Amino acid sequence: MKTLALMMEGVDPKTGKGSARAVVLLMRGDHQMNEAKLSAALGGKATRPMQEDEIRQLFNSPGGFLGPVGIAWAKDMKDVERPVLFVDKGLEGRTNLIGGANKEDYHFKNITPGRDFKPTASVDLRSVTAGEDCPNCGGTLRIDSAVEIGHIFKLGYKYSESMGARVLDKNGKEVTPIMGSYGIGIERILTAAVEQDNDENGFWLPPRIAPFEIVVTPTNVGDEKLLSTAMDIARRQNLADPDLKADGFSGSVGAIERAVTTARPVAVSDALIDPFLQGRESVIAGKIRALVCVPLVAADRMIGLIYADSAEPGAAFSELDVEILEALASHAALAIVMARVDRELRGMAAQLPYVAPVAPPPDSSWSGVLAHHRSRTGQES
Ligand SMILES: [Zn+2]
Repeated sequence: MKTLALMMEGVDPKTGKGSARAVVLLMRGDHQMNEAKLSAALGGKATRPMQEDEIRQLFNSPGGFLGPVGIAWAKDMKDVERPVLFVDKGLEGRTNLIGGANKEDYHFKNITPGRDFKPTASVDLRSVTAGEDCPNCGGTLRIDSAVEIGHIFKLGYKYSESMGARVLDKNGKEVTPIMGSYGIGIERILTAAVEQDNDENGFWLPPRIAPFEIVVTPTNVGDEKLLSTAMDIARRQNLADPDLKADGFSGSVGAIERAVTTARPVAVSDALIDPFLQGRESVIAGKIRALVCVPLVAADRMIGLIYADSAEPGAAFSELDVEILEALASHAALAIVMARVDRELRGMAAQLPYVAPVAPPPDSSWSGVLAHHRSRTGQES
């Protein structure tokens, strides 16, 4: 068995001064002390290794030959005048042990706890090791590294009682609720993923949590060869935006997305330095440098967009342009809604025998009146 010599530090309640009490642990030679268990056994008090002079004072021996024999140990924790001796549960029932003799170069054979020395207490102090038997099912313990990504704490009544939380039960009676705390560590999931999948070039993420699978970044979009090669690689990886291909639209998908999600005008004076649009395939493909995108909003609903872009950077679109486009957009939105209503009414009218649709006059600027109403008597109104 081995002898661990520690000092428990605390404050003397009478004098208020710092005090230290010897705490000696006996463990099987191949077992490791578990600090959390020791701390719990000492009511949360911290310990530190005993210093050379403290060792000599208690054991009357240099370190390396320490043992429990010949020292009067505290009967219990309240026996504060004497040092504490904890014997690990792993030594329970053992006899004829070998331990230090508190004399340089000497060890004792046949030490038996209880007979040769009287410990303060028998305490579970050791860390479990892989391969140990399960006391419940007889299985074998396996130890693996793991990451706590989520947890559940049963808080019980601790906080609901102290904070006076009350709820009504099914009978309308006031009761103190039992509390629990549940958490998932989002950052830990990412950290754990990086920790597991990395090499000297960096890390990679499982597709389910990766923000993208592949990004092709041309280092200089001004270089024709670099740009076309990057585009080619992107195409071969099937990265080209399917919507972009489908309708032949050559504008900035990113700007449109932003205008749609914010329902606000988007004006970019230089797409190359706008971080939101940097590296966007649609921006690169369209050689877009400046753009403006204004949503069409009618009755609080977005019904379309006005979009314009330019290969010229800088002041291609001014704030005034945006204002003019916004004004135009509100009129356009109204006109579109009117046109839709027109179409709907024409459709409805076609199904009613007494309402005849009337074509607009030859002047095509006119489209406001939708239908003549003719009464059943034949009079027009
Ligand atoms: Zn088990």
